[in-house]
Amino acid sequence: MKPSIMDLTKEELAQVVKPPFRAKQIFGWVYHHYVESFEEMANLPKALKEELSRDYVVNPLKIVNKEVSKDGTIKYLFELQDGKTVESVWLKMKDEEYDEEGKLLHEAKYSVCVSTQVGCKVGCSFCLTAKGGFTRDLTPGEIVAQVVSLKKDNNHAHNRVTNIVYMGMGEPLDNLENLAKAIEIFKDQDGLAISAKRQTVSTSGLSNKIVKLGEMNLGVHIAISLHAVDDELRTELIPMNKAHNIDSIIEAVKRYPIDTRKRVMFEYLVIKDKNDDLKSAKKLVKLLHGIKAKVNLIYFNPYPGTDYKRPSYEDMHRFQEYLTKHGVLCTIRDSKGIDISAACGQLKEKTNK
Ligand code: SAH
Ligand code: SF4
Repeated sequence: MKPSIMDLTKEELAQVVKPPFRAKQIFGWVYHHYVESFEEMANLPKALKEELSRDYVVNPLKIVNKEVSKDGTIKYLFELQDGKTVESVWLKMKDEEYDEEGKLLHEAKYSVCVSTQVGCKVGCSFCLTAKGGFTRDLTPGEIVAQVVSLKKDNNHAHNRVTNIVYMGMGEPLDNLENLAKAIEIFKDQDGLAISAKRQTVSTSGLSNKIVKLGEMNLGVHIAISLHAVDDELRTELIPMNKAHNIDSIIEAVKRYPIDTRKRVMFEYLVIKDKNDDLKSAKKLVKLLHGIKAKVNLIYFNPYPGTDYKRPSYEDMHRFQEYLTKHGVLCTIRDSKGIDISAACGQLKEKTNK
Protein backbone atom coordinates (compact mmCIF):
# COMPACT_ATOMS: atom_id res chain seq x y z
CA MET A 1 0.00 0.00 0.00
CA LYS A 2 1.61 3.25 -1.17
CA PRO A 3 1.19 6.33 1.04
CA SER A 4 -1.04 9.09 -0.30
CA ILE A 5 0.26 12.55 -1.06
CA MET A 6 -2.64 13.71 1.14
CA ASP A 7 -0.92 12.13 4.16
CA LEU A 8 1.55 15.01 4.11
CA THR A 9 1.28 18.52 5.46
CA LYS A 10 2.69 21.16 3.13
CA GLU A 11 5.77 21.44 5.33
CA GLU A 12 6.37 17.71 5.12
CA LEU A 13 5.86 17.78 1.37
CA ALA A 14 8.39 20.60 1.09
CA GLN A 15 10.96 18.25 2.65
CA VAL A 16 10.25 15.67 -0.04
CA VAL A 17 10.14 17.81 -3.18
CA LYS A 18 12.86 20.19 -4.28
CA PRO A 19 12.69 23.13 -4.49
CA PRO A 20 10.17 23.55 -1.70
CA PHE A 21 7.84 25.87 -3.66
CA ARG A 22 6.76 22.75 -5.54
CA ALA A 23 4.82 21.77 -2.42
CA LYS A 24 2.49 24.73 -2.89
CA GLN A 25 2.00 23.86 -6.56
CA ILE A 26 1.14 20.26 -5.68
CA PHE A 27 -1.30 21.42 -3.00
CA GLY A 28 -3.01 23.51 -5.68
CA TRP A 29 -3.44 20.51 -7.98
CA VAL A 30 -4.67 18.24 -5.21
CA TYR A 31 -6.92 20.58 -3.21
CA HIS A 32 -8.01 23.20 -5.77
CA HIS A 33 -8.20 21.13 -8.95
CA TYR A 34 -8.89 17.75 -7.36
CA VAL A 35 -6.63 15.93 -9.87
CA GLU A 36 -6.36 12.15 -9.57
CA SER A 37 -2.85 11.62 -10.95
CA PHE A 38 0.58 13.23 -10.85
CA GLU A 39 0.68 13.26 -14.68
CA GLU A 40 -2.04 15.93 -14.65
CA MET A 41 0.16 18.31 -12.64
CA ALA A 42 1.15 20.24 -15.75
CA ASN A 43 3.69 22.65 -14.25
CA LEU A 44 5.83 19.97 -12.57
CA PRO A 45 8.98 18.67 -14.24
CA LYS A 46 8.63 15.20 -15.79
CA ALA A 47 11.22 13.65 -13.45
CA LEU A 48 9.40 14.87 -10.36
CA LYS A 49 6.05 13.59 -11.64
CA GLU A 50 7.62 10.19 -12.21
CA GLU A 51 9.26 10.15 -8.82
CA LEU A 52 6.02 11.05 -7.06
CA SER A 53 4.02 8.45 -9.04
CA ARG A 54 6.53 5.82 -7.97
CA ASP A 55 6.29 6.68 -4.26
CA TYR A 56 2.73 7.95 -3.71
CA VAL A 57 -0.86 7.74 -4.85
CA VAL A 58 -2.88 10.95 -5.09
CA ASN A 59 -6.29 9.83 -3.78
CA PRO A 60 -6.31 6.56 -1.80
CA LEU A 61 -10.11 6.17 -1.99
CA LYS A 62 -12.49 4.69 -4.54
CA ILE A 63 -16.24 5.33 -4.43
CA VAL A 64 -17.95 1.91 -4.41
CA ASN A 65 -21.50 2.86 -3.43
CA LYS A 66 -23.56 6.00 -3.24
CA GLU A 67 -27.09 6.63 -1.96
CA VAL A 68 -28.86 9.90 -2.70
CA SER A 69 -31.64 11.02 -0.38
CA LYS A 70 -34.59 13.24 -1.28
CA ASP A 71 -33.36 15.94 1.09
CA GLY A 72 -30.02 16.31 -0.70
CA THR A 73 -28.04 14.08 1.66
CA ILE A 74 -25.66 11.74 -0.15
CA LYS A 75 -24.07 8.80 1.57
CA TYR A 76 -20.84 7.36 0.14
CA LEU A 77 -19.09 4.08 0.68
CA PHE A 78 -15.35 4.22 -0.05
CA GLU A 79 -12.96 1.39 -0.65
CA LEU A 80 -9.48 1.91 0.76
CA GLN A 81 -6.34 0.57 -0.91
CA ASP A 82 -6.41 -2.60 1.21
CA GLY A 83 -10.02 -3.35 0.27
CA LYS A 84 -11.52 -2.18 3.58
CA THR A 85 -14.46 0.22 3.43
CA VAL A 86 -15.62 3.36 5.25
CA GLU A 87 -18.53 5.75 4.90
CA SER A 88 -18.80 9.50 4.49
CA VAL A 89 -21.90 11.67 4.21
CA TRP A 90 -22.49 14.85 2.21
CA LEU A 91 -25.04 16.86 4.16
CA LYS A 92 -26.96 19.85 2.92
CA MET A 93 -27.22 22.11 5.95
CA LYS A 94 -28.86 25.13 4.39
CA ASP A 95 -30.72 25.57 1.11
CA GLU A 96 -29.69 28.21 -1.40
CA GLU A 97 -31.80 31.39 -1.24
CA TYR A 98 -32.95 33.78 -3.94
CA ASP A 99 -34.50 37.25 -3.79
CA GLU A 100 -37.81 38.18 -5.54
CA GLU A 101 -36.05 38.77 -8.86
CA GLY A 102 -34.51 35.34 -8.73
CA LYS A 103 -31.04 36.60 -7.90
CA LEU A 104 -28.97 34.23 -5.77
CA LEU A 105 -28.66 35.61 -2.23
CA HIS A 106 -26.49 32.85 -0.91
CA GLU A 107 -25.43 29.41 -2.02
CA ALA A 108 -26.39 26.18 -0.26
CA LYS A 109 -24.18 25.20 2.66
CA TYR A 110 -22.77 21.73 3.08
CA SER A 111 -21.09 19.65 5.77
CA VAL A 112 -19.06 16.52 5.31
CA CYS A 113 -19.35 13.79 7.92
CA VAL A 114 -16.08 11.85 7.85
CA SER A 115 -14.86 8.54 9.27
CA THR A 116 -11.64 8.24 11.24
CA GLN A 117 -11.28 4.47 11.65
CA VAL A 118 -12.35 1.22 10.01
CA GLY A 119 -14.65 -0.05 12.75
CA CYS A 120 -14.36 1.15 16.32
CA LYS A 121 -12.94 -0.10 19.62
CA VAL A 122 -15.46 1.63 21.85
CA GLY A 123 -18.21 -0.89 21.20
CA CYS A 124 -21.37 1.11 21.92
CA SER A 125 -24.38 -1.18 22.22
CA PHE A 126 -26.59 0.98 19.98
CA CYS A 127 -24.08 1.50 17.17
CA LEU A 128 -23.85 -0.54 14.02
CA THR A 129 -20.21 0.40 13.42
CA ALA A 130 -19.32 -1.30 16.70
CA LYS A 131 -20.76 -4.64 15.60
CA GLY A 132 -17.88 -5.37 13.22
CA GLY A 133 -15.24 -4.67 15.86
CA PHE A 134 -12.12 -2.65 15.14
CA THR A 135 -9.97 -3.11 12.05
CA ARG A 136 -7.57 -0.18 11.83
CA ASP A 137 -7.00 3.56 12.06
CA LEU A 138 -7.37 5.69 8.97
CA THR A 139 -4.26 7.53 7.83
CA PRO A 140 -4.36 11.34 7.65
CA GLY A 141 -4.65 11.06 3.86
CA GLU A 142 -7.60 8.70 4.08
CA ILE A 143 -9.38 11.21 6.31
CA VAL A 144 -8.52 14.20 4.12
CA ALA A 145 -9.41 12.39 0.88
CA GLN A 146 -13.02 11.85 2.01
CA VAL A 147 -13.63 15.59 1.88
CA VAL A 148 -11.71 16.06 -1.37
CA SER A 149 -13.64 13.21 -3.03
CA LEU A 150 -17.04 14.48 -1.89
CA LYS A 151 -16.33 18.02 -3.00
CA LYS A 152 -15.12 16.75 -6.35
CA ASP A 153 -18.09 14.42 -6.83
CA ASN A 154 -20.46 17.31 -6.13
CA ASN A 155 -18.62 19.85 -8.29
CA HIS A 156 -18.05 21.93 -5.19
CA ALA A 157 -15.31 24.51 -5.78
CA HIS A 158 -12.43 24.41 -3.32
CA ASN A 159 -13.18 27.87 -1.96
CA ARG A 160 -16.85 27.22 -1.25
CA VAL A 161 -17.58 26.92 2.46
CA THR A 162 -17.45 23.38 3.78
CA ASN A 163 -17.93 22.27 7.37
CA ILE A 164 -16.39 19.08 8.62
CA VAL A 165 -17.87 16.89 11.34
CA TYR A 166 -15.82 13.94 12.56
CA MET A 167 -18.93 11.87 13.19
CA GLY A 168 -18.62 9.00 10.77
CA MET A 169 -17.27 5.59 11.63
CA GLY A 170 -14.74 5.30 14.42
CA GLU A 171 -13.70 7.20 17.53
CA PRO A 172 -11.64 10.21 16.37
CA LEU A 173 -9.80 10.66 19.68
CA ASP A 174 -8.65 7.05 19.52
CA ASN A 175 -6.73 8.09 16.39
CA LEU A 176 -5.62 11.45 17.70
CA GLU A 177 -2.29 11.79 15.91
CA ASN A 178 -3.69 11.19 12.44
CA LEU A 179 -6.76 13.28 13.24
CA ALA A 180 -4.61 16.23 14.30
CA LYS A 181 -2.62 16.01 11.10
CA ALA A 182 -5.79 15.89 8.98
CA ILE A 183 -7.12 18.97 10.80
CA GLU A 184 -3.88 20.82 9.96
CA ILE A 185 -3.96 19.76 6.32
CA PHE A 186 -7.58 20.94 5.99
CA LYS A 187 -6.60 24.30 7.49
CA ASP A 188 -3.77 25.01 5.03
CA GLN A 189 -4.36 28.25 3.14
CA ASP A 190 -2.86 26.73 -0.01
CA GLY A 191 -5.20 23.77 0.29
CA LEU A 192 -8.88 23.63 1.24
CA ALA A 193 -8.40 26.40 3.84
CA ILE A 194 -11.12 25.00 6.12
CA SER A 195 -10.57 26.78 9.41
CA ALA A 196 -10.61 24.89 12.68
CA LYS A 197 -13.79 26.76 13.60
CA ARG A 198 -15.54 24.85 10.82
CA GLN A 199 -14.36 21.48 12.12
CA THR A 200 -16.12 19.58 14.92
CA VAL A 201 -14.73 16.47 16.57
CA SER A 202 -17.39 14.17 18.02
CA THR A 203 -16.22 11.87 20.78
CA SER A 204 -17.74 9.14 22.89
CA GLY A 205 -15.89 10.74 25.79
CA LEU A 206 -12.27 9.60 26.18
CA SER A 207 -11.71 12.20 28.89
CA ASN A 208 -7.90 12.07 28.92
CA LYS A 209 -7.84 12.56 25.15
CA ILE A 210 -10.28 15.48 25.35
CA VAL A 211 -7.78 17.17 27.65
CA LYS A 212 -4.94 16.31 25.26
CA LEU A 213 -6.83 17.67 22.26
CA GLY A 214 -7.43 20.87 24.22
CA GLU A 215 -3.73 21.16 25.00
CA MET A 216 -2.90 20.81 21.32
CA ASN A 217 -4.76 24.10 20.76
CA LEU A 218 -5.91 23.23 17.28
CA GLY A 219 -9.01 25.40 17.65
CA VAL A 220 -11.54 22.73 16.69
CA HIS A 221 -14.93 22.38 18.34
CA ILE A 222 -15.90 19.32 20.29
CA ALA A 223 -19.15 17.44 20.51
CA ILE A 224 -19.57 15.00 23.38
CA SER A 225 -21.70 11.91 22.84
CA LEU A 226 -23.18 11.90 26.33
CA HIS A 227 -26.40 9.90 25.77
CA ALA A 228 -27.02 9.21 29.47
CA VAL A 229 -26.99 11.11 32.76
CA ASP A 230 -26.12 8.28 35.12
CA ASP A 231 -23.10 6.03 34.91
CA GLU A 232 -25.05 2.79 35.05
CA LEU A 233 -27.03 3.43 31.88
CA ARG A 234 -24.09 5.13 30.19
CA THR A 235 -21.93 2.06 30.80
CA GLU A 236 -24.63 -0.13 29.29
CA LEU A 237 -24.64 2.08 26.19
CA ILE A 238 -20.91 2.91 26.05
CA PRO A 239 -18.87 0.22 27.84
CA MET A 240 -15.72 2.34 28.15
CA ASN A 241 -17.70 4.67 30.42
CA LYS A 242 -16.29 2.46 33.17
CA ALA A 243 -12.88 3.99 32.57
CA HIS A 244 -14.11 7.45 31.57
CA ASN A 245 -17.19 8.17 33.63
CA ILE A 246 -19.53 11.13 33.34
CA ASP A 247 -17.74 13.22 35.99
CA SER A 248 -14.38 12.78 34.29
CA ILE A 249 -15.89 13.91 30.98
CA ILE A 250 -17.47 17.00 32.51
CA GLU A 251 -14.12 17.84 34.14
CA ALA A 252 -12.32 17.44 30.81
CA VAL A 253 -14.87 19.63 29.01
CA LYS A 254 -14.41 22.36 31.60
CA ARG A 255 -10.69 22.38 30.77
CA TYR A 256 -11.22 22.49 27.02
CA PRO A 257 -10.42 25.89 25.45
CA ILE A 258 -13.62 27.16 23.90
CA ASP A 259 -14.08 30.12 21.61
CA THR A 260 -15.93 32.58 23.84
CA ARG A 261 -18.78 32.90 21.36
CA LYS A 262 -19.21 29.17 21.00
CA ARG A 263 -20.69 26.36 23.04
CA VAL A 264 -19.73 22.77 23.65
CA MET A 265 -22.17 20.48 21.98
CA PHE A 266 -23.56 17.56 23.93
CA GLU A 267 -25.15 14.88 21.81
CA TYR A 268 -27.90 12.96 23.50
CA LEU A 269 -29.09 9.89 21.63
CA VAL A 270 -32.68 9.35 22.71
CA ILE A 271 -33.80 5.73 23.03
CA LYS A 272 -37.40 4.89 23.85
CA ASP A 273 -37.96 3.89 27.50
CA LYS A 274 -34.24 4.18 28.26
CA ASN A 275 -33.41 7.86 28.56
CA ASP A 276 -36.40 9.75 27.17
CA ASP A 277 -38.03 10.62 30.52
CA LEU A 278 -38.18 13.99 32.25
CA LYS A 279 -36.20 12.71 35.22
CA SER A 280 -33.25 12.33 32.86
CA ALA A 281 -33.89 15.78 31.43
CA LYS A 282 -33.81 17.21 34.94
CA LYS A 283 -30.51 15.47 35.71
CA LEU A 284 -29.07 16.70 32.44
CA VAL A 285 -29.84 20.31 33.33
CA LYS A 286 -28.05 19.84 36.63
CA LEU A 287 -25.07 18.12 35.05
CA LEU A 288 -24.52 20.92 32.54
CA HIS A 289 -24.78 23.67 35.11
CA GLY A 290 -21.89 26.12 34.66
CA ILE A 291 -20.96 24.89 31.18
CA LYS A 292 -21.65 26.87 28.02
CA ALA A 293 -23.43 23.92 26.50
CA LYS A 294 -25.79 23.16 23.68
CA VAL A 295 -27.67 19.89 23.62
CA ASN A 296 -28.48 18.13 20.39
CA LEU A 297 -31.12 15.44 20.75
CA ILE A 298 -30.78 12.58 18.27
CA TYR A 299 -33.52 10.10 17.47
CA PHE A 300 -32.20 6.56 17.82
CA ASN A 301 -32.19 5.13 14.31
CA PRO A 302 -33.14 1.44 14.49
CA TYR A 303 -31.65 -1.28 12.31
CA PRO A 304 -32.41 -5.00 11.99
CA GLY A 305 -31.28 -6.95 15.03
CA THR A 306 -31.37 -4.17 17.64
CA ASP A 307 -33.73 -4.16 20.64
CA TYR A 308 -33.53 -0.41 21.10
CA LYS A 309 -36.44 1.65 19.83
CA ARG A 310 -36.90 5.06 18.31
CA PRO A 311 -38.49 7.52 20.77
CA SER A 312 -41.85 9.14 20.02
CA TYR A 313 -42.09 12.62 18.57
CA GLU A 314 -44.00 13.74 21.69
CA ASP A 315 -41.37 12.49 24.17
CA MET A 316 -38.61 14.02 22.13
CA HIS A 317 -40.30 17.42 22.12
CA ARG A 318 -41.24 17.20 25.80
CA PHE A 319 -37.58 16.55 26.61
CA GLN A 320 -36.48 19.49 24.49
CA GLU A 321 -39.07 21.78 26.02
CA TYR A 322 -37.91 20.89 29.53
CA LEU A 323 -34.30 21.76 28.73
CA THR A 324 -35.21 24.99 26.97
CA LYS A 325 -37.45 26.05 29.85
CA HIS A 326 -34.60 25.47 32.26
CA GLY A 327 -32.14 27.57 30.32
CA VAL A 328 -30.30 24.90 28.33
CA LEU A 329 -30.09 25.51 24.60
CA CYS A 330 -31.46 22.42 22.89
CA THR A 331 -32.10 21.37 19.32
CA ILE A 332 -33.41 18.18 17.79
CA ARG A 333 -31.31 16.75 14.99
CA ASP A 334 -33.47 16.26 11.96
CA SER A 335 -32.73 12.80 10.70
CA LYS A 336 -31.12 13.71 7.44
CA GLY A 337 -31.30 11.04 4.83
CA ILE A 338 -33.65 8.91 6.86
CA ASP A 339 -34.79 7.28 3.62
CA ILE A 340 -31.25 6.14 2.80
CA SER A 341 -29.18 4.23 5.33
CA ALA A 342 -28.58 7.20 7.58
CA ALA A 343 -27.20 5.87 10.84
CA CYS A 344 -23.50 5.31 10.89
CA GLY A 345 -22.46 1.93 9.54
CA GLN A 346 -25.68 1.15 7.73
CA LEU A 347 -24.54 1.60 4.16
CA LYS A 348 -21.48 -0.55 4.81
CA GLU A 349 -23.69 -3.23 6.33
CA LYS A 350 -26.01 -3.17 3.34
CA THR A 351 -23.22 -3.33 0.77
CA ASN A 352 -21.71 -6.23 2.70
CA LYS A 353 -18.12 -5.10 2.19
N1 SAH B 1 -17.27 7.85 17.81
C1 SAH B 1 -17.72 9.19 17.85
C2 SAH B 1 -18.10 9.74 16.48
C3 SAH B 1 -18.79 8.80 15.56
S1 SAH B 1 -20.40 8.25 16.05
C4 SAH B 1 -18.88 9.34 18.82
O1 SAH B 1 -19.39 8.33 19.30
O2 SAH B 1 -19.22 10.47 19.13
C5 SAH B 1 -21.33 9.68 15.64
C6 SAH B 1 -22.69 9.79 16.28
O3 SAH B 1 -23.59 8.80 15.73
C7 SAH B 1 -22.66 9.55 17.79
O4 SAH B 1 -23.22 10.63 18.49
C8 SAH B 1 -23.46 8.28 17.93
O5 SAH B 1 -24.11 8.27 19.14
C9 SAH B 1 -24.41 8.35 16.75
N2 SAH B 1 -25.06 7.06 16.45
C10 SAH B 1 -24.50 5.84 16.44
N3 SAH B 1 -25.42 4.89 16.17
C11 SAH B 1 -26.60 5.53 16.00
C12 SAH B 1 -27.93 5.11 15.71
N4 SAH B 1 -28.23 3.85 15.51
N5 SAH B 1 -28.89 6.06 15.63
C13 SAH B 1 -28.59 7.38 15.81
N6 SAH B 1 -27.36 7.83 16.08
C14 SAH B 1 -26.37 6.92 16.18
FE1 SF4 C 1 -17.59 4.00 18.12
FE2 SF4 C 1 -19.03 6.30 18.12
FE3 SF4 C 1 -20.13 3.96 17.28
FE4 SF4 C 1 -19.59 4.31 19.85
S1 SF4 C 1 -21.05 5.51 18.61
S2 SF4 C 1 -19.11 2.47 18.65
S3 SF4 C 1 -17.71 5.49 19.76
S4 SF4 C 1 -18.44 5.05 16.32
